[in-house]
Amino acid sequence: MTDKTAGFLKLSDKYSASNYHPLPVVIERGEGCWVYDVEGRKYLDMLSSYSALNQGHCHPKIVAALQDQASRLTLTSRAFHNNLFGAFMQKASSVTGMEKVLPMNTGAEAVETAIKMARRWGYEKKGVPEGMAKIIVCANNFHGRTTTIVGFSTEPLYRRGFGPFTPGFEIIPFGDAAALASAVDRNTVAFLVEPIQGEGGIIIPPRGFLSKAAEICRKNNVLLVLDEIQTGLGRTGKMFAYQHEKGVKPDAIILGKALGGGVYPVSAVAARAEVMGVFDPGSHGSTFGGNPLACRAAIAALEVIEEEDLPGKSRESGDYFIGKLREIKSKHVTDVRGLGLFVGVEVKKETGGARPFCEKLMAEGLLCKETHDLVIRFAPPLVIKREEIDWALERIRKVLL
Ligand SMILES: *Cc1c(COP(=O)(O)O)cnc(C)c1O
Repeated sequence: MTDKTAGFLKLSDKYSASNYHPLPVVIERGEGCWVYDVEGRKYLDMLSSYSALNQGHCHPKIVAALQDQASRLTLTSRAFHNNLFGAFMQKASSVTGMEKVLPMNTGAEAVETAIKMARRWGYEKKGVPEGMAKIIVCANNFHGRTTTIVGFSTEPLYRRGFGPFTPGFEIIPFGDAAALASAVDRNTVAFLVEPIQGEGGIIIPPRGFLSKAAEICRKNNVLLVLDEIQTGLGRTGKMFAYQHEKGVKPDAIILGKALGGGVYPVSAVAARAEVMGVFDPGSHGSTFGGNPLACRAAIAALEVIEEEDLPGKSRESGDYFIGKLREIKSKHVTDVRGLGLFVGVEVKKETGGARPFCEKLMAEGLLCKETHDLVIRFAPPLVIKREEIDWALERIRKVLL
């Protein structure tokens, strides 16, 4: 590491909380799939800020929209209307196939919004006795970092020292439809689930799980709430990951990350009208939620996903990438799995875990990040080209063999 890079690390170390453990690279510029550090070195970004950069770094159309809007109007609060709000709601509704949308800023806020919505729906529409609403979630989940959300996490790292936690959640094993069926009771208002667990280690549930879960929810008048913050907007080779299974009709979809096109935090809950209808004036809000800058960025972000067929690109590139990864016969690797460009390579414990591989890949000019101890996650921008994938494969082969 040079003095220059060391200087930046020292400055953040001195003044920032230590709630992250970043790789020692200091990035100052990004374009498409590539980022450049303060030394002028170039890296292929295969993390995409946890799928917030599906459209790539500094996508010209999204940046232009943001820049243009920044000089016109940035914030009105929801005390007044703004001229872009309706257009964003309409666009998000059409992309999700949901009638109503509620915009927030971060993913965790959108999850909180969905929890409030499901609970109130339970009391007002399902007739659950006050204070008794139960939401079923899965072990190994990741839905964000608020106190309520970490309260139903099963990861000690996320929970330690942060209690007391919000009651009203029951945890079942991920991918276990029978467990869901037996956990559902009269007071169950929702099943909150990621179609594929991202932070949990790119865990794909058994085939048919989501269809069965949807059926169980429908039969028992329980809302199916899908957290597609990481899996949605093209990441897995479809617009939404739930679309890989037949007959799944969610009651609500939670969006974030790539919804802001990698330039601005934008999240949202999209839901059926009857469900979203439980919110009345004063019941929920956010000062920045739905601000004109966010609306403009999100409209552009969604247009790019559609115009450039990013779900299709993800499917095609993902099939190629996963196929080639499987051809690398490494004694360190126990599993290669994924859907579209949402890919996990699991390594043996004895290797020292995924982190050393990520560090070696960084030295080769490829940025990715371990998730949990043993999984290297590869989730590049969906705009990645075939020759860029080949470039990455060369380095991955070198590091894994
Ligand atoms: C990232 C993520 C969140 C939280 O989003 P933030 O914007 O970091 O609050 C929630 N759910 C899933 C599935 C995520 O991947």
